[in-house]
Amino acid sequence: MKYISTRGHAGQPANPEFCDILLGGLAPDGGLYLPERYPQVTRAELDAWRGLSYAGLAFEILSKFITDIPPADLEAICDKTYTAKVYCHVRKGDDASDITPVHWLEEGRFGLLELSNGPTLAFKDMAMQLLGNLFEYVLDRRDETINILGATSGDTGSAAEYAMRGKHGVRVFMLSPHGKMSAFQRAQMYSLQDDNIFNIAVTGMFDDAQDIVKAVSNDHAFKARHKIGAVNSINWARVAAQIVYYFKGYFAATKSNDEQVAFCVPSGNFGNICAGHIARRMGLPVAKLILATNENDVLDEFFRTGVYRPRKAAETHVTSSPSMDISKASNFERFVFDLVGRDPRRVAALWAEVEAGRAFDLSGTPEFARIADFAFVTGASSHADRLATIREVFERYGVMIDTHTADGVKVARQHAAEVPAGVPLLVLETALPVKFADTIVEALGREPERPADLEGIEKLPQRVEVMAPDVEAVKRFIAERV
Ligand SMILES: *Cc1c(COP(=O)(O)O)cnc(C)c1O
Repeated sequence: MKYISTRGHAGQPANPEFCDILLGGLAPDGGLYLPERYPQVTRAELDAWRGLSYAGLAFEILSKFITDIPPADLEAICDKTYTAKVYCHVRKGDDASDITPVHWLEEGRFGLLELSNGPTLAFKDMAMQLLGNLFEYVLDRRDETINILGATSGDTGSAAEYAMRGKHGVRVFMLSPHGKMSAFQRAQMYSLQDDNIFNIAVTGMFDDAQDIVKAVSNDHAFKARHKIGAVNSINWARVAAQIVYYFKGYFAATKSNDEQVAFCVPSGNFGNICAGHIARRMGLPVAKLILATNENDVLDEFFRTGVYRPRKAAETHVTSSPSMDISKASNFERFVFDLVGRDPRRVAALWAEVEAGRAFDLSGTPEFARIADFAFVTGASSHADRLATIREVFERYGVMIDTHTADGVKVARQHAAEVPAGVPLLVLETALPVKFADTIVEALGREPERPADLEGIEKLPQRVEVMAPDVEAVKRFIAERV
């Protein structure tokens, strides 16, 4: 399988394959990588896949996108990644060997697709764990190393650290805002003692940490000399890995491949739901993709109006579903590429507007007139909705859900009537409630349950370097350790 850029120039080599784009971020033209076509899944394949384990299914699906790793090696990587031991934080009564079990709220009709069973209790582990094993494999094969530099306000950084810890050829330098994360989040990251993981707590805000990462990445000489890389949400391998659980969820929620399913996805950077869109384009029988945002409703606005209006930093709300607090959705360009008939010149022109800080407007275009073909339905949720939903789901079903999943449940309910009768609706559970304990206490007046293996992690010794928000100091810190 060859890869192309949404803006037309995929760079060198001229027709990159999966391993060529694995370690990079953006294509050289600033676009995002996509496969040159979406592989189609036949009815015979669906029938054969229905009974597979998660790892087996991951291998079947990923082999359609990854043709430059020998099948036996890819299979071994999938088997090593998707184990009940790694994805052990399933809800009571559910089977960890399913990796992503469905937890029904209303049997056969309305349920949660559990994606937060991994080491950091958020769905990002689903893809990041695979990425860790793929990075190690490809770096070993090429006898190369990489130094991953990132900034985090919580979920992404910890998922990256747990995926890369102890991996050959990989070091992680993760910047976080000093004193701004919860005690639980700090403990999760800073208690890692692996010598390839470096936590840097910057005395500033998340944006200061982010600015340092940008400044270091813009120093091209430093970046090349020290092999600086990233694992952000635009990484194609992360999107590819996420396609698998849409198939797994479909098989769990239906009895035969004549049926359909609907998904509701709490969305920020459009990474998770982009994988759902691709699964549907591959032929998975998905009746609706319901996209839920929080108060940062840039995506909801686009699907309602055809206007994509990225927000300024000052217009971005700080909410109680913080992993969805985005001003622009970095993966959205992949969807728009498909929407405009995969025309890279159109995409390049639209993103020239976005990069100049302007909106673009597709309303009134023939493409937007066909948006219904993509089966998206969207809605937004607020802090009050979140609290009410957490309360209601707990009282009615005895199930405690996190704030992001609550946004999903709220918007799913709002649009339930648009899902054809008899089609099961799955809300993707993107984090466990213990990660956002303050809001759970606000909603329910009690602390969320905590998995037994994470009991007392706040008391473990922590390994973190506190630093001023100083680009040169961060560069020195990295240079001394690589
Ligand atoms: C990252 C994240 C999201 C948003 O996912 P996108 O792929 O950015 O749309 C939602 N919920 C949680 C808990 C997350 O960590």
